[in-house]
Amino acid sequence: MLFQSLNNPANCVGLRDAVLNPISTDGGQYMPQRLPLLPRAFFNNLSEMTIREASYIIAMMMVGDEIPPDQLKHIVEDSFNFDIPLKHVHDGIYVLELFHGPTGSFKDIGARFLANILSHFASKKGTIHVLAATSGDSGGAIAAGFADLPGVKTHVLYPSGVLTEQQVSDICRARGTVEAIEVKGTFDDCHALVQAAVSDPELKKKMAVTTANTINIMRLIPQMFYYFYGVGQLLAKQPRDSESPIISVPCGNLGNLTAGVSAYLMGLPVKRFVAACNANDVFSRFIHTGTLSPQTPQRTIAPAMDVGHLSNLKRLEALMDNELDKLQALIEVHNFADSEIASHMIDTYCVHSYLMDPHSATAYAALLNSLRPGETGMFLATAHPSKYAQTVQEITGAHALDLCMVHDRSHHEHVTLPNRYNALKRHLFAR
Ligand SMILES: *Cc1c(COP(=O)(O)O)cnc(C)c1O
Repeated sequence: MLFQSLNNPANCVGLRDAVLNPISTDGGQYMPQRLPLLPRAFFNNLSEMTIREASYIIAMMMVGDEIPPDQLKHIVEDSFNFDIPLKHVHDGIYVLELFHGPTGSFKDIGARFLANILSHFASKKGTIHVLAATSGDSGGAIAAGFADLPGVKTHVLYPSGVLTEQQVSDICRARGTVEAIEVKGTFDDCHALVQAAVSDPELKKKMAVTTANTINIMRLIPQMFYYFYGVGQLLAKQPRDSESPIISVPCGNLGNLTAGVSAYLMGLPVKRFVAACNANDVFSRFIHTGTLSPQTPQRTIAPAMDVGHLSNLKRLEALMDNELDKLQALIEVHNFADSEIASHMIDTYCVHSYLMDPHSATAYAALLNSLRPGETGMFLATAHPSKYAQTVQEITGAHALDLCMVHDRSHHEHVTLPNRYNALKRHLFAR
């Protein structure tokens, strides 16, 4: 499969280049040049497949020309080594639980798959340095996914004074091949440092440097797989002639939604997507007006969705041929205040005995709003309730201990760097 730059479709590269140099020389992010259409036979058998079987077939169709089948199979099986159950919540509403990975976040899926792909190429190329900026949530997933990966050294950059103690220790815990770097600056500063490094020709001459942020297209590809699996499971529970489902996605930087729309273009039956957002309404205003006005995000109880700049919007637009009315026809956007998210968490827990974290609850709320009589819907649950234990407990009274994942807060080893690219560069040279 070829990947083309969003800034200039003539700039095409293979998988290996797209993964190792995730920003094209023209400054654009990559997208698959052509998404394969999955054959009818695949859909006929989909509801009997495991997540690993379905993912392997799709992965073969997408990147099987660059990674030998046995190795790709290993990559898929290692990345999806946990369940992704589809559960019935009530009436026509189902939930696909994406949070059973090692850090309780759906980001485990993209991080682990990318890590395995990088490691595959590293074995031929010597050490690869991977940089990632995090505002909190993705850091732990990246650290866990990249821990002890042969041939890869990972550097996770995070802003001073923003992360919870838990988030810092999730990053620091994966010592060995993963290094935690506290930057005296904001998340945007961390992001800018990573961007500067991956586009610095002098640095790249000396060492292979790439990023594990969703700038890297291989974070998104594995996220397409679970949409197929989820709809397959749903079809198995529905009468044969039923309509295509509605899928509700909790949205921040739109990576997850971009993966879903890609799956749709590969033939997945979906009636429409619902983009579920908290009080931050950049995407909603974009969909309604066609103009993007980035803003400083406000803090909500679903912080992983507090974004002011939609880093995957260009990809999403490209999928819809850059036509706003196509986006509007496929995607509905719903925003919710914290109080609304909280009341859905309470109701669903009390009435239907289903406990949700605030991000997943936003997707539930949006689906409930969007569903019309007779329609069936599935929302994506992106974090385990225990990942946001304090909020969940305060709102619902459910005990975090019931949801226990064992937390170890003892490791806080990290380096601290000023917010200057030269300092980061010097630090990398010394590695
Ligand atoms: C990152 C994250 C999101 C947002 O995902 P995007 O792909 O950035 O839209 C939603 N929920 C949780 C729990 C997250 O960590």
